[in-house]
Amino acid sequence: MPTTTRIFNFAAGPAVLPLAVLEEAQRDLIALPGVGMSVMEISHRSKTFEDILHRAIEDIRALANISSDYTVMLLQGGASLQFSMVPMNILTPGATADYIVTGGWAQKAVKEAKKVGTTNVAWTEGGEIFTRIPRQEELKLTPGAAYVHMTSNNTLFGTEWKKLPEVGDAPLVSDTSSDMFSRPIDVSKHALIYAGAQKNLGPSGVTLVIIRNNLLARSRDSLPTMMNYKVHADNGSMYNTPPTFGIYVLGLTMKWLRRQGGLDAIGQVNERKAGKLYAEMDRTGFYRGTAQKDSRSLMNVTFRLGSEDLEKLFIKESTAAGLDGLKGHRSVGGMRASIYNAFPEEGVDALVQFMREFERKNG
Ligand code: PMP
Repeated sequence: MPTTTRIFNFAAGPAVLPLAVLEEAQRDLIALPGVGMSVMEISHRSKTFEDILHRAIEDIRALANISSDYTVMLLQGGASLQFSMVPMNILTPGATADYIVTGGWAQKAVKEAKKVGTTNVAWTEGGEIFTRIPRQEELKLTPGAAYVHMTSNNTLFGTEWKKLPEVGDAPLVSDTSSDMFSRPIDVSKHALIYAGAQKNLGPSGVTLVIIRNNLLARSRDSLPTMMNYKVHADNGSMYNTPPTFGIYVLGLTMKWLRRQGGLDAIGQVNERKAGKLYAEMDRTGFYRGTAQKDSRSLMNVTFRLGSEDLEKLFIKESTAAGLDGLKGHRSVGGMRASIYNAFPEEGVDALVQFMREFERKNG
């Protein structure tokens, strides 16, 4: 195989990007058309870069129909920095922040919030393994909470919210790192949304933050400047040098997503892709899904086999067959097929074929 041939990349993130985006970035890498310099070499204060940033934000706004009540920011530090920035900015003194703990990333989020103020775990499954999303009546929400934090898709465990929880008047904060823009999202039901870019949005190094403007009043001047949402909002994501190349590629990815028909259209493709894998998993019982059926993720499809030896063989043979990155997260074991927006449907078909053949030989 030529060294530049692309294989099917099932990695959980950083993950596959649309080929058309990579090709455009490659074509224009040495000199942006009409600029004569690489996007990596120009000032972030130049008109060229400002246009790139503004267009990316406009495309994000258009994709999710985001009203002027919200500010869209592209920051740094990954979703992990948001675990700290969220409570530092909006966990008001004396109030409680509710966390719905549905997986390993939610556990990390609440851990950081505890360092800042009072938290309440509104629900958790118990134990180390997470298999589902809670039912509404299971949530133990605090009246008057500063906010309620959720994780829309649990990357490690392959579970995903199908419907937002009802949280009354409390601001809803969602870590959407691993399913942002994989399906329609009702921004107006959220107070704050954040996502590391490196799954559906672009390369790592950029973090999307969408915040309802009235929350910005909670950011106190005493916060470290770079941790302050209001500073970033007031400066249009340009308080300091932003990750220019990452924002450029994110912008190309947003344009690509609009060309696919936007969130409704990509949502249908994602339903179909995941549906094929779950149908194969459920066909005989040889493969065992780790997520409960009503909580299954469209982005991260997790499954196990009868023994760890068989799982090792599956990983070895699938990798050799050009199906890369199927090893599950170490906390869960087994297999995980991450099939984000840019993951081609042919790759899903190839995995289904591989699973059939593997079962025929080893079942
Ligand atoms: N939240 C979720 C749901 C994630 O999947 C990840 C990364 N896989 C993170 C947070 C952490 O993101 P980052 O590495 O950008 O800090």
